[in-house]
Amino acid sequence: MVASEAAPYAKTGGLADVLSALPKALVRAGEEVAVVLPYYRNTAVSNTRPVYERLAFGLGPFRYSANILEKVDGGVRYLFVQIPELYDRPVLYGEPDDHLRFAALCHAALGVARHLFAPNIIHGHDWQAALLPLLLTDTYANHPAYLGIKTILTIHNLGYQGQFPVAVLDDLGLPQRLYAGGLMEFYGGVNFLKAGLITSDRLTTVSRRYAQEIQTQAFGFGLDGILRARSNILIGILNGADYEHWDPAADPLIPAHYNRTDLSGKADCKRALLTEAGLADSRVDRPLIGIVSRFASQKGFDLLMQIPHEVAAENVSIVVLGSGDQRYEDFFRWYQSAYPDRVSLRIGYDEAFSHLIEAGSDMFLMPSRYEPCGLNQIYSMRYGTLPLVHATGGLDDTIDADTGFKFWGMTPGELLECIRAALRVYGTPRWSEMMLSAMQRDFSWHAAARQYVAMYRTLLATA
Ligand code: ADP
Repeated sequence: MVASEAAPYAKTGGLADVLSALPKALVRAGEEVAVVLPYYRNTAVSNTRPVYERLAFGLGPFRYSANILEKVDGGVRYLFVQIPELYDRPVLYGEPDDHLRFAALCHAALGVARHLFAPNIIHGHDWQAALLPLLLTDTYANHPAYLGIKTILTIHNLGYQGQFPVAVLDDLGLPQRLYAGGLMEFYGGVNFLKAGLITSDRLTTVSRRYAQEIQTQAFGFGLDGILRARSNILIGILNGADYEHWDPAADPLIPAHYNRTDLSGKADCKRALLTEAGLADSRVDRPLIGIVSRFASQKGFDLLMQIPHEVAAENVSIVVLGSGDQRYEDFFRWYQSAYPDRVSLRIGYDEAFSHLIEAGSDMFLMPSRYEPCGLNQIYSMRYGTLPLVHATGGLDDTIDADTGFKFWGMTPGELLECIRAALRVYGTPRWSEMMLSAMQRDFSWHAAARQYVAMYRTLLATA
């Protein structure tokens, strides 16, 4: 597998959770897996072992030499690509040379495939790995080292495609015909993901519903035509949840434990959350809505921004953890100052606090405009925290009337009605029933790994 992040080493979102859990689940299912990822400045890994020194390759006019460091975790070989001039940066993405940084990742992965781990399949994730199938079908089409290797590309979020000006082709040492011939051309620029969608042997995405949605204009980000044309090799496999890290009965990051037969610890978690959030004076029996999110337009908080007073007028407390676009940070900051007794905001990335929010909240709000899979609603269910979600993508696939509350139209009115519907049930016996149903749902990686293995097998059986 090739990806730009994997927990706990480097994480900005759900992709990292997948690259932490899926490879291990595949190993448990009997597969051999190596994961190739960049060694960033903030990569949190210790006790690595150098396994290859000075892996050399060129991109256009640039020459690179990578050291590969290995960490074996859960039977998975995590292989970190160390190229300080590309990855020794304070952030993972958004650098002016991202095209070089992630093209280099793909080239380094090919070096790994040649010298360290001979794969039957290279399974790439998102645009950062999308040049791999292109390199294998074009640049290295006849290279003996790579003959017979099959490729898979998983789309974790079609909203991020790796788009750059045409001039980067020279930087990357890629021929202009890739643009002129349409493989990489996208509205006058080049698009890494497009190349991967066209050249990969199989495409997957992270829920069935999202696999359908991305074939429509509304969710296709300009690539729906290609996805429709390739629908016969596109499948949706729902992500799992890593219940070793997300289990209220054993979570080391929460102050009290609980399970389906003894829920008393959840009230302790709620009190601890209110205190930690600075809402200690708020009544414990007042319903508490939790939010943990990247702040990006995808996440749908614009709806809440249109009805802040209406929501606050309901009898609720709201605890928010997140960071990202300024406008959402500003909004939540304002919301907190307007309703200091019921709204609490923490800006930043905070693993421990995210677990406390899952455990201490009564409801978890995800009004995402689109959501390929979404993980927090799955974690929420296990913590008996009922999700309030927009019925899209993985949110629609994972939540039903026994485990949460959905709204279908992407309007402030429907969101408000959804919150009110949940509040009408809160405190009734039906609420406890729903909590127990939600806690019982099983989205473990085992089932997902089985589907990936089945796909690998069929792919290897095809000529
Ligand atoms: P996405 O990948 O689009 O951000 P997902 O729901 O798939 O959304 O995954 C988000 C992951 O990132 C979850 O594990 C969530 O707990 C975590 N996360 C997001 N924001 C924060 C934050 N501010 N602090 C801690 N964890 C966060």
